[in-house]
Amino acid sequence: MKKILFLLIAVSIVGCKKLEKKADTVSKPIVQLHQLVGGAIFVKKLEVFSQDTTYTGQTKQFTDTYYVISHPKGNLMWDAGLPEQLVMETAFDEPSGVYAIKRPDSLGNQLKSIGYKIEDFKYFAMSHSHFDHTGHANLMKHATWIVQENEYNANVGDSVKIKNAAVTALKKVQKITGDYDVFGDGTVVIKYTPGHTIGHQSLYVEVAGLEKPVLLTGDLYHFEENRANKGVPSFNYDAEETLKSMEKFEAFAKEKNAEVIIQHSPIAFKKLEELLKNKRK
Ligand SMILES: [Zn+2]
Repeated sequence: MKKILFLLIAVSIVGCKKLEKKADTVSKPIVQLHQLVGGAIFVKKLEVFSQDTTYTGQTKQFTDTYYVISHPKGNLMWDAGLPEQLVMETAFDEPSGVYAIKRPDSLGNQLKSIGYKIEDFKYFAMSHSHFDHTGHANLMKHATWIVQENEYNANVGDSVKIKNAAVTALKKVQKITGDYDVFGDGTVVIKYTPGHTIGHQSLYVEVAGLEKPVLLTGDLYHFEENRANKGVPSFNYDAEETLKSMEKFEAFAKEKNAEVIIQHSPIAFKKLEELLKNKRK
């Protein structure tokens, strides 16, 4: 009898410990991340991605990803790929002669493939307002567009004569200045990393079941070498500001021990795909 009683007590203690542990994990919101391919970009003149002649004569294949982040308080879409008009077989040679571009499928179809609809998003944010990140932005008009105030002003502000048509349908706007904790619990944080454009930003996400948090670069870097060499594209808004942002970004990545994902890199795409496939259930 004594033995049984002891066993019962032991079991209940273990049980309590288990519950405590469970309560601990439950208190963290379950954040999920999906990556989708909003385009393929063949760079015919890689030299535009440096301030000098480092890449003259070279070419490179970029991917062009966008992301779905689900949080118990709502879904966020990050970036918007290339425009849907570019869903075509053969890549389009855009007029500058630098890029050949195409998009694999429409937003609606791509979201359907992961069980989402366009209307499922409470928030929408982009790293910046270049054409390869604003592609389907106007379709996100029911969501609140979270944007740096200076980026907003430079694209669709009152003083802008020719507004950026790619974002004019977005009327629900939340302007921010600097870093911004989207859901107020530290799991999804927009990091202000200006330089590529005036109000460029990156995204930090604590994905449930992943060892490390994920840090999406936006276009702070375009490929691995660019990150290693702190290469600044010739077309950046402000080179000095970009270098400062890189420093801030790297310090933050180190502090959080984050997995840095370069959004245009096919290598990073594969890496994140693997991590998401193998994450703890
Ligand atoms: Zn880009």
